[in-house]
Amino acid sequence: MTARSLAEVAPGVFVAESEIWASNTAVVVDRSGSALIVDPGITTAELDGLVAAIRARGWRVAAGAATHPHWDHVLWHPDLGEVPRFATARAVAVMAGDRGRSWAEAAQAAPGLEEELFGVLAALPDEADELPPPAPSGIAVLRHDAHVPGHLALAVGEALLVGDMLSQREVPLLDVGHAGEDREPPSDPVGDYRAALDLLESSAARRGTRVIVPGHGPVTRGSEAIAVLFARDRAYLDALEREAAGGEPTTDARLADEWVAQQHAAHVARLRALAG
Ligand SMILES: [Zn+2]
Repeated sequence: MTARSLAEVAPGVFVAESEIWASNTAVVVDRSGSALIVDPGITTAELDGLVAAIRARGWRVAAGAATHPHWDHVLWHPDLGEVPRFATARAVAVMAGDRGRSWAEAAQAAPGLEEELFGVLAALPDEADELPPPAPSGIAVLRHDAHVPGHLALAVGEALLVGDMLSQREVPLLDVGHAGEDREPPSDPVGDYRAALDLLESSAARRGTRVIVPGHGPVTRGSEAIAVLFARDRAYLDALEREAAGGEPTTDARLADEWVAQQHAAHVARLRALAG
């Protein structure tokens, strides 16, 4: 068993990168060694490796958190223990309506996962602005509906764990729904996304955030680089709206990736359908 390597990106905040899609798992550890696992990882080998890394450091898993109800963020390993895996109440509802489709996607992408541990999430009380015990204390919760309803970000000291937002690899991925999903996608996905960027940016400014940990792609450090992330995502949304209205094709270096370009095409199609 190879333990996954964990890089400390801010005091008490450790990140391991997945083999798939440069996905990030974060582990937040307090001084007593009590650990919160955020988006545990994807393949069975990685989940095994995460368990090994936590054991090697002598940490105790106190709780989990899923940033949002997409299959690659709601996995778990039996040896991480039976602890609450927090998510927003809205995320729990979305997961309940999409479990079958979502599990089929997980089982195909990462064979050998345990279905009974898939998407077993504990709803945070709506009024909670921090993760409750048994999670380590002092982890603030931000909620928004960009990308998928019930998305959360976690603020830990100078780090902000943002799930599938603010990626250097992916353009903003709008909530345009999945085929076969038991849910209507929203009527203003760009507006929802802009509102979330505003929320995250004002929170980052207030808290003095210096490190952004996204769900996919490299960690971003320093307030100037963080400002660039926000500006680039807003520029993408502006360009997307212009393109959907018949303007020039969007230019964004992240569209060089074939999968990202497919998501972009789906955004244009959805905005045109909403306008039509
Ligand atoms: Zn996602």
